[in-house]
Amino acid sequence: MCVGCRKRAEAADLVRVAVRQDDNTPQLVVDVARTVPGRGAWLHPRRDCVTAAVRRKAFPSALRAPGLTVDPDDLAEAIGEITEEDGRSGRNR
Ligand SMILES: [Zn+2]
Repeated sequence: MCVGCRKRAEAADLVRVAVRQDDNTPQLVVDVARTVPGRGAWLHPRRDCVTAAVRRKAFPSALRAPGLTVDPDDLAEAIGEITEEDGRSGRNR
């Protein structure tokens, strides 16, 4: 399920994000290879879903990382780079 729009979707259509502890500060990472251990959250590689997920604080709760702060611009940018590399999704401009 996408943590942004909360619709069901195939894993192939979603990107995984996970948390990495960096000096005891949780950092959100976009898990391209889907190999980051621990909890992950899934969302569409779309700005709408990123913004919605950040606004409802979906990441700290889905990832059990209460101190996690997410900048929607940074995240959208990180995801945007991935989907451009990938070349098969996220081209809805
Ligand atoms: Zn979505």
